[in-house]
Amino acid sequence: MNYRSNIHSSANSKGHLTIGGCDAVALAKRFGTPLYVIDEDAVRRACRAYVEEFGARYPNVRVIYASKALMVKAIALLVMEEGLFLDVCSGGELYTAISAGCPADQIYFHGNSKSAAEIAFALSVGVFRFVVDSLDELYVIDRLARSKGLVANVMLRLTPGIEAHTHEYIKTGQIDSKFGIVIPNGDALRAVGIAKRLANVRLTGLHCHIGSQVFEMEPFVDAIDVMMNFAKQAHEATGFIMEELDIGGGLGIRYNSKDDPITARDLAEAVAPALIDAASRHGLPLPSLLLEPGRSIVGEAGTTLYTVNAVKRIEGVRTYVSVDGGMADNPRIALYQAEYEAALANRMAVPGPSSPGSSESWETVSVAGNCCESGDMLVWDVSMPRPEIGDTLAVFCTGAYNYSMASNYNRYPRPAVVLVRDGRADVIVERETYADLTARDSVPVRLRPAATRPAAAELAHRDSAGAQSR
Ligand SMILES: *Cc1c(COP(=O)(O)O)cnc(C)c1O
Repeated sequence: MNYRSNIHSSANSKGHLTIGGCDAVALAKRFGTPLYVIDEDAVRRACRAYVEEFGARYPNVRVIYASKALMVKAIALLVMEEGLFLDVCSGGELYTAISAGCPADQIYFHGNSKSAAEIAFALSVGVFRFVVDSLDELYVIDRLARSKGLVANVMLRLTPGIEAHTHEYIKTGQIDSKFGIVIPNGDALRAVGIAKRLANVRLTGLHCHIGSQVFEMEPFVDAIDVMMNFAKQAHEATGFIMEELDIGGGLGIRYNSKDDPITARDLAEAVAPALIDAASRHGLPLPSLLLEPGRSIVGEAGTTLYTVNAVKRIEGVRTYVSVDGGMADNPRIALYQAEYEAALANRMAVPGPSSPGSSESWETVSVAGNCCESGDMLVWDVSMPRPEIGDTLAVFCTGAYNYSMASNYNRYPRPAVVLVRDGRADVIVERETYADLTARDSVPVRLRPAATRPAAAELAHRDSAGAQSR
């Protein structure tokens, strides 16, 4: 595996990895490790690619950032500055966006299990659209909207019968999903009819999302076909006019040299004509085209920096390089056998293993996390100059579904997140402290150690006093 082909392969004269013009080794020293580093220009470039490539090929496009990939205030504001809308899928994500100052009328609210409290919250701030996942939800939104004297704009999330998962593409069985309203059994058509009848919801369009880390155009094109066929059927049955069609997110990124993702341009070139064609074939007005990328907006922009704590060489078996982070800051390897690339950020200029001037020996190593789980590995079988304790190790493409999935497992504080651009680094999430870890712990009086247990001490005193008077 050749990490030099990675988008983050730039190095400075010290042979240190640079990200957004910043020396990664200096970042590690200044902010500590593990450290999430987000390249602002890379995020902006990814946003612009969607806006421009789709905008050039379709009259009315809306790009919506699927914020679950990385939801912190600065990122929400950054993508909105690039003209994207926001998709949130929980009250917490919605709260983050609103408290950052993101306009509610540019927020889509997703989720297959929204609570009444979350729906009430979304109504009170005035989200732009509810993306409704079930008939139950439709009724709850209508009821709560009525109680507030509002009409909620809703879209229906449908299951198009197409599921594209990493590299494979299945057309059957995906009806068995917790997400979306099913088309073939008639539920979707029923939902359109009900939405049209309910007085406090207004149905604006349809939504589908076919998967994540998708590498082909065909499933998107097929999904458009299914959705447009349904829109036609729903129009005939109920008079429903689809103002907007959301084809979801899911564009894959290049985690390592084996990945060969399509670009926003490839997708736009396939999707825009397919939608225009389907609309004219069915005699339907052109809907707004909505896209919901998450991973492909922030994934490649992120790098995690770690410090090497120990190197264990088992002769003839494997070399384990243990770093100061792991599944608590990146659970994707343990969750999905995700594959990443890694490099030593402080030794980027070391001549490659096969180059004639190679002075240092290279080694194939596996990078291990610091959690108490054998499954806590970050990268298997990656080639790098013989690692040593104290090296700064970089894992690439960690911008999406890393910080947002981080936990405090083993009571590791969650790392800081810094945003870098033009040689400048700004902290956008502070590193948690040990005190943060225990801040919400509460100990019942009976369990408190004697020295800090005044009430218990008093009880003991009273007991002994009672014993004396007997
Ligand atoms: C997760 C999700 C997305 C974003 O998926 P990516 O693979 O990160 O682009 C978009 N829409 C919905 C409904 C999602 O659940």
